Amino acid sequence: MKQYDYLIVGAGLFGAVFAQKAKEAGKKVLVIDRRNHIGGNVYTKDVEGIHVHEYGAHIFHTNNEEVWQYITGFAQFNRFTNSPVANYHGELYSLPFSMYTFNQMWGVVTPQEARAKIEEQRKEAGIKEPHNLEEQAVSLVGTDIYEKLIKGYTEKQWGRPCTELPASIIKRLPVRYTFDNNYFNARHQGIPMGGYTKMVEHLLDGIEVRNGVDYLKEKEALDALADKVVYTGAIDEYFDYCLGALEYRTVRFETELLDTGNFQGNAAVNYTDRETPWTRIIEHKWFEFGKDDNGNDIPKTVISREYSSEWKPGIEPYYPVNNDRNNTLYEKYRALADKEGNVIFGGRLGEYRYYDMDKVIERALACAQTELKD
Ligand code: UDP
Repeated sequence: MKQYDYLIVGAGLFGAVFAQKAKEAGKKVLVIDRRNHIGGNVYTKDVEGIHVHEYGAHIFHTNNEEVWQYITGFAQFNRFTNSPVANYHGELYSLPFSMYTFNQMWGVVTPQEARAKIEEQRKEAGIKEPHNLEEQAVSLVGTDIYEKLIKGYTEKQWGRPCTELPASIIKRLPVRYTFDNNYFNARHQGIPMGGYTKMVEHLLDGIEVRNGVDYLKEKEALDALADKVVYTGAIDEYFDYCLGALEYRTVRFETELLDTGNFQGNAAVNYTDRETPWTRIIEHKWFEFGKDDNGNDIPKTVISREYSSEWKPGIEPYYPVNNDRNNTLYEKYRALADKEGNVIFGGRLGEYRYYDMDKVIERALACAQTELKD
């Protein structure tokens, strides 16, 4: 008999949801994380009453009723609706691509005029079947929007030319011929009131958590503690990169506390030109309408400039780069993972997928259901 039924490596969303379900099923669970806090990349830190998204903006949105019902049991969500502003050399545009954007770009007023403009640019570019992000973007929104709002941002974000990136990345963004500038199509959207850390604390309520424990450094001793391991770190790191490293993008943040109540008037401003070195500036207080937990105005503000770069071992990976090369390599790691008897791999890094938070929760719930059925 080992001390725990499950050792969960990583206190991010996947790990916390699985842990909660396992505990509910009467299992003994230990959660470890090499960082000194819980929450993984959704962790929020309190600064002057502002919940700062330490690892980048996280806006919860989902169409999955089961996920929404589940997660709202651990946090109340506010009514935040993401609507970023694009700044292209000082020209401002509304995002995602909607009638507001088309009007600002071309002065068109009706959906018919906007469609005609895009169709004209698409024809001129001569694209039939889009094969990459550039072709996909031009066929969706035309060359002007591609050049001003997509190309520079995407190449900064991914460090690769748009012609070498999968079309799927740009399909994440809505294109609408209406005056609706909600960035997401999801039925439910919001930010957990009190911050994401509090939500994860609730998920992990009554569960033993050890921070500052590096699983791969003490694998043998830790494996001896539990019957099964749920591993949510990077799959290639687990196998000591034996087949080569998967590629990730990482983000560096320059965060500042400012003595002003309002820096940019919006939670997210994307700098879509190639010349500005950062991809976007997040002003954290606007995720919660500039109010603290008691509903008071906050006279200060915290902003984060985000710089995207290629990941190297030793720093935090953020975005899997799901191109053909990496997906093929991932499948090989996946085959190794299938042979690891008592280990479940999950989450954005464990499954090497560009998952949103709701998808991570959905995967964790499904995994728990299969795993804990008897
Ligand atoms: N994107 C863009 N311009 C923008 C915002 C996004 O071209 O102003 C593209 C970019 O390629 C990005 C993709 O759309 O990688 C998906 O954006 P999303 O906001 O979903 O990325 P995330 O919030 O996950 O960083």
